[in-house]
Amino acid sequence: MAEKQADSAKQAENLRQKLNQWGRQYYVLDQPTVEDAVYDQTYRQLQDLEKKHPEVITADSPTQRVGDQILSGFEKVSHETPMLSLGDVFSKQELQDFIDRLHENVGEKVPFNCELKIDGLAISLTYEDGVFVKGSTRGNGTIGEDITQNLKTINAIPLRLSEPVSVEVRGECYMPKSSFVHLNEYREEQGLPVFANPRNAAAGSLRQLNSKVTAARNLSTFIYYLMEPEKFGVTSQSQALKKMRDWGFKTNIDSRLATNMDEVDHYIDDYQDKRDQLEYDIDGIVLKADPFTVQQELGNTVKVPRWAIAYKFPPDEQETVVRNIEWTV
Ligand code: NAD
Repeated sequence: MAEKQADSAKQAENLRQKLNQWGRQYYVLDQPTVEDAVYDQTYRQLQDLEKKHPEVITADSPTQRVGDQILSGFEKVSHETPMLSLGDVFSKQELQDFIDRLHENVGEKVPFNCELKIDGLAISLTYEDGVFVKGSTRGNGTIGEDITQNLKTINAIPLRLSEPVSVEVRGECYMPKSSFVHLNEYREEQGLPVFANPRNAAAGSLRQLNSKVTAARNLSTFIYYLMEPEKFGVTSQSQALKKMRDWGFKTNIDSRLATNMDEVDHYIDDYQDKRDQLEYDIDGIVLKADPFTVQQELGNTVKVPRWAIAYKFPPDEQETVVRNIEWTV
């Protein structure tokens, strides 16, 4: 028995070490060394092991914290309401289970807002009387980096809203695919290391000490989260998106309300097919219980909301090959 426990602890330590190393390369250096699918699969292994043997959980486990680490060089910003990650599932069956569980917990069927999962990095924007005053990264969820000057260079971020509201919104900053291709071509010409993907290029571009570099990188944003919606008489996620669009934010117009798994299924299939035609990378879809009353009732864990879930697209063939190689070493 004691031997088995020691085995699990050792296995957990091994997985933690791998994930923490990959996490550092991804979040801090913006240079991932493995595909996301490899990271996700290893993360799942650790999660399963910790579920079976809770005694192996440690404070530095990636399952216990929101991923990013804070870089020095920027002022710190406290997020009064933590910026969370999302729980994820990798099959439609798991998604159906999530929906069933949620309906059971709430005691009734609720509509879901289906959104594209933009592969960028989370940002928070604060406005006072309609004027943009502060912008930050998610950081470790409770403390982020002040990147206001860099965010001001992004055209999609309004410096003044259509109404003089004081509000915090959150969303995703991303690099359009065409900008990514140009950037890497340029870097190759200059003999500089290229970025692995648009997400890492966006992260590297946002965390520049010189805003002129950020300005030249053609970043964009989709805003998807409204803080304190009750102040604005907004009662659901779908209404919040509309309200934020009216204020001048760029929101993603490809979101859709769904009332059952069939509709969710269609949404997934639609965008899995259209994925390559989009001007930005998506790595899945996000399902959010639409009414804010339901979101409040279900609340959050330390890391993720209980009222939302990400469905990650299966890795493409190329990624699968990488994953297989990874698992054999
Ligand atoms: P995540 O990216 O899987 O999902 C959560 C994030 O999705 C949110 O924080 C938000 O920024 C974003 N998002 C995009 N569209 C959204 C929408 N419409 N609504 C709400 N949120 C939306 O989680 P994470 O914690 O940011 O990162 C973990 C993931 O990063 C892993 O699952 C893995 O795929 C990747 N990762 C990869 C490596 C690697 O080495 N390849 C290392 C670490 C992490």
